[in-house]
Amino acid sequence: MLRLPPPYASRLLRDESLARYTAARLGGAADLLYVARESEAELSAVVSAAWAQEVPVRVLGGGANVLVADSGVRGLVVINDVSQVSFQADGIVEVSSGHALTVLARKCGTHGLSGFEWAVSVPGTVGGAVVNNAGAHGGDMAGNVVSVRLLEGGAGVTTLMQAELAYAYRTSALKQRTDHHYLVLSARLALTTDEPEAIQARMAAFIAHRKRTQPPGASLGSIFKNPPGDYAGRLIESCGLKGFRMGGAQVSPVHANFFVNDAGATAADYLAMVAHVQRVVREQTGVMLETEIEMIGYS
Ligand SMILES: Cc1cc2nc3c(=O)[nH]c(=O)nc-3n(C[C@H](O)[C@H](O)[C@H](O)COP(=O)(O)OP(=O)(O)OC[C@H]3O[C@@H](n4cnc5c(N)ncnc54)[C@H](O)[C@@H]3O)c2cc1C
Repeated sequence: MLRLPPPYASRLLRDESLARYTAARLGGAADLLYVARESEAELSAVVSAAWAQEVPVRVLGGGANVLVADSGVRGLVVINDVSQVSFQADGIVEVSSGHALTVLARKCGTHGLSGFEWAVSVPGTVGGAVVNNAGAHGGDMAGNVVSVRLLEGGAGVTTLMQAELAYAYRTSALKQRTDHHYLVLSARLALTTDEPEAIQARMAAFIAHRKRTQPPGASLGSIFKNPPGDYAGRLIESCGLKGFRMGGAQVSPVHANFFVNDAGATAADYLAMVAHVQRVVREQTGVMLETEIEMIGYS
């Protein structure tokens, strides 16, 4: 049993379904769930209490890149909704890890700060994007991050400089860690200046492109990473799998690298589809697709 300090203890939820906290709108329940909305201090206190009491803890932002097992997640899941940002001189932005990417992109645009337009229609939070090196339209977190503040069990608050994050395509030194014994608190981003109207125009073009090429509704975005020199969606489509269905999940007829949950899909449906698509694509093209999404609650 987890004991939290008094202001937070009453907000601890038990046996709470994670479906409403993930973009695919599926998955089982967390034994314990805490939604942090107030402050970095609140987030740190809750996560530190779990570490101190050896309760397994997983921090999620928008749940936009995780497939939660139907059997749920043991221990504590913390949903990070702490949303703070400060705009400093010379294009420096200090932003809390729970800040939504889409909202941050718009705020940067309003402040005449360019370089973050790519994030205007990417779901999720700064924390998840820091870990995953999220990116789109030729930009990514690696191109923006100067440094990241972390809370680490035992080490307190530390600062990682961009070079220490070892960013590469949709991965980072943090994503490679299997201990999950760290919490991204905030990120320092470096942007350049431009006319707000020009920034808005680029963001509008990115949004329009996404509406044309990607399906609406519940999904996890791209299921697989693009293999070198090719696109996972193109390969899946070339194998005739667009529209293929397993249970409540379907390979999107709009974009074959998206699996949409349009009929009450389970995580088991998604996993079966991942395995099927990997097998068919490997048999027909020789390429083994690697998942971009992360499975949680499976160990
Ligand atoms: C419709 C759709 C479109 C998408 N398009 C794109 C796209 O264009 N480009 C792209 O890169 N991605 C895309 N994605 C995937 C997703 O948006 C990104 O991976 C995003 O960065 C996930 O952020 P999140 O906050 O939801 O992370 P989550 O899914 O909540 O978590 C991801 C990982 O980060 C960890 N984590 C999250 N926050 C913290 C924290 N504060 N401290 C420590 N660990 C943390 C989690 O434990 C987990 O391991 C898309 C997803 C959807 C649903």
